[in-house]
Amino acid sequence: MSEGLRTLGIDVGGTAIKLAVVWSDGRLARAAEIPTEVESGPEAALVRILECSRTLLRAEAMPSQSMRAIGLASAGIIDTTRNLVLDAPNLRSWERFPLADRLGEAFGVPASIENDVNAMAYGEWRCGAGRGTHSLLCLTLGTGVGGGIVLDGRVYRGAHGGAGEVGHITVERDGPACACGSTGCLERYVGARWIVERAVQRLESDARPSALRGLDAAQLTPLRVSEAAADGDPIACAVLEETGVWLGVGLASLANVLDPERIVIGGGVARAGEALFEPARRTLRARAMSVQAAALDVVPAALGNDAAVVGAALLALERVQGR
Ligand SMILES: [Zn+2]
Repeated sequence: MSEGLRTLGIDVGGTAIKLAVVWSDGRLARAAEIPTEVESGPEAALVRILECSRTLLRAEAMPSQSMRAIGLASAGIIDTTRNLVLDAPNLRSWERFPLADRLGEAFGVPASIENDVNAMAYGEWRCGAGRGTHSLLCLTLGTGVGGGIVLDGRVYRGAHGGAGEVGHITVERDGPACACGSTGCLERYVGARWIVERAVQRLESDARPSALRGLDAAQLTPLRVSEAAADGDPIACAVLEETGVWLGVGLASLANVLDPERIVIGGGVARAGEALFEPARRTLRARAMSVQAAALDVVPAALGNDAAVVGAALLALERVQGR
């Protein structure tokens, strides 16, 4: 593969749209970010994406003819055959809007769209913490808990584009209700909101001193919990230990089913680092079957917020190259 090819990657999120010119080896040539402004609708966003893309190409002194493809990433269930977002709770009015096709027409290049966590998984697999593996499970821990699966070098999307919804595997049959309609989902134990809820409960039931005590609802975030844990705060450490154990329970089931070579975990909550990863690994090893668990690594993501934009661009380039 020539390293000289460049592709435009666009990651459409609920609050921001990230754009980047990406080299075929995954390096970012140039990047920019604009607000999504969900309420103004996809047509208005398309205009702003076009404007920002042209500015990027100009700054990169890159004629649009030299761009090979456009790769988009979006939250939601994606129909990759028809290039459409079918179901996206954070981008309702954007569903079935032909964003990829319209961008492709505007630049005269093939454009394709991929689920954002699949794109992240692919980006991490090609150029990040999953490099060198054949199979990878990638999780993103934030408000929601998402997953992407790369098997034998290919994104596994499932029969209906819905594979990888690891946040909604059941870890407790009669657990608390989840927004998806089920109960006891993994997301309900390790999602950002529920980490905060766990901290609130522990502050009430555990009298030990803590830097988290006295923070108001807006200040008590997973990041604050992580910072306090890094300083040895006993309440914060206990909250992350419990969160990590729940994460490990979910990972053990996933390891038994998928037997991946590595599990990569990113997203804001993963910034808690070893305070979260250590109990997750320990629980995974204790619960998964021995062969699957023995050589399985659980590591932090390496590409940060760039993973999806890089992965989307590389996937789009692969499509053009017929692979
Ligand atoms: Zn759920």
